[in-house]
Amino acid sequence: MLPDRYAVFGHPIGHSKSPLIHTLFVQQTGENIAYTAQDVPPECFEVALRTFHAGGGKGLNCTVPLKELAFQAADELTSRARQSEAVNTLVWRDDKLCGDNTDGIGLLRDLTENLAIDLSGRRLLVLGAGGAVRGILRPLLERKPACLVIANRTVSRAQSLAARFAALGPVSAVGFPGLQGLRFDLVLNATAAGLQGELPPLPDDLLAPDGDCYDLMYADKPTAFVRWGHDHGARLSVDGLGMLVEQAAEAFLVWRGVRPRTAPVIRRLRRATATGGE
Ligand code: NAP
Repeated sequence: MLPDRYAVFGHPIGHSKSPLIHTLFVQQTGENIAYTAQDVPPECFEVALRTFHAGGGKGLNCTVPLKELAFQAADELTSRARQSEAVNTLVWRDDKLCGDNTDGIGLLRDLTENLAIDLSGRRLLVLGAGGAVRGILRPLLERKPACLVIANRTVSRAQSLAARFAALGPVSAVGFPGLQGLRFDLVLNATAAGLQGELPPLPDDLLAPDGDCYDLMYADKPTAFVRWGHDHGARLSVDGLGMLVEQAAEAFLVWRGVRPRTAPVIRRLRRATATGGE
């Protein structure tokens, strides 16, 4: 029987690890699927979507810069996709296009299950106020932190997010200068600054003793923020590779009703990174 077709759409997409991750999930679960990566510029998204479905495609992942377009294209949305106004997982059900967002649950699983980081009662700082942050605020606030501060270069974007999620917990917004004198137990970097090897301007004493750093970005070498964490006494300072694998596993569950085990896949990707392979 021919495999069911799935793909990741993004632009650029050349360095995506998603095809390897899903190949490892297939080896583990025996599901009969083929998963490819497709470079889709935003202006081609709608046509690419229709062509993929007409060719028998069953579901998609969407990554930068297509998550908002995927949100708009979906006929139906899960509550987590509606709240984040971004979709990273699409599935056709009875010819209806259903949109979901698995980034938040992916981050939460990596933090709490893989890294054993406790969120309840802790002071959280989220750097950035873009699409990724919209997807992670609800699951973070549901863990009942003592407070969650959003810091962003454009303060108004942080303020509007804080206002939108205020009903879910103690969330507030600042610009980067407003971080002076504040201390946090967990700092999550969700800015795109690292793509240029840059960092937001952070005070040296931002991290509480035994505080942790988590960079949503991942790279083959330690990211600028992961290095900042190590240099500023973080207990743990890790990148977002685990989140990437966890959000992929959740998408696989949405599509196939089977949740792959993630620990061996994360180990395999870390090994490949360390040896410069794959
Ligand atoms: P986005 O919507 O484009 O938002 C980018 C954010 O970064 C904005 O808050 C922007 O601030 C800020 N920013 C950009 N350049 C900056 C700079 N030089 N200094 C300070 N702030 C800067 O991007 P996104 O989709 O939220 O993604 C953010 C990061 O999360 C990316 O690195 C992405 O790879 C990562 N991510 C990882 C996963 C995973 O599975 N591991 C999943 C999703 C996203 P302004 O508002 O001021 O422009």
